Amino acid sequence: MRTCVGCLESSDPSGLVTLRLAPTPEGGVMVVVGAHAGAKGRGAHVHPTAACVAKAVDGRLSKAFRREIRVSASELGEAIGEREAARIEGLIATAIRTRQVALGADAAAEALAHGALVVAAKDAGRVVDHQPFRGAREAGRLIFWGDRARLGSFTRRDSLAVLAVTAPSLVQALRHAHEVVSAFAPAYVAAAR
Ligand SMILES: [Zn+2]
Repeated sequence: MRTCVGCLESSDPSGLVTLRLAPTPEGGVMVVVGAHAGAKGRGAHVHPTAACVAKAVDGRLSKAFRREIRVSASELGEAIGEREAARIEGLIATAIRTRQVALGADAAAEALAHGALVVAAKDAGRVVDHQPFRGAREAGRLIFWGDRARLGSFTRRDSLAVLAVTAPSLVQALRHAHEVVSAFAPAYVAAAR
């Protein structure tokens, strides 16, 4: 268990992000999120929520690192959002590498019935307006990520509109990361319209 530097409550580490200090070119320090080249020392941990980030930057982070830390809630939120965005890419790549994935609209539709999470390209087009994907969107079982070319690049296809991640552990991690990105870096996950 680790303590959140925002709300000061203990939490399972999987629900927290780690913050560390890294040197800046100007000789100061900056807060970085997660594993980061040049980061050193003990980390602090924070729930990736607006409320905990706001409390963290309002003095508690400075207390945790025992030095004055100047970072705004929006800067820290953006860094957390970018970190989780990279995590989403990693989770999709893992799902594909380990073949815990259904590729294409037909296979994804079938996997949905078995608890999969659909990942749709932002430019997937009208396919996501039809069932079962429309229902999946409403039920929070469809997320938008990248474009057709990006999703395709994970799979050696030129283009892929829809895939579904089938492994429950990956689904859970993806939903969590997606929630954080939606809160802090919504441009990544907004559907193209
Ligand atoms: Zn917290």
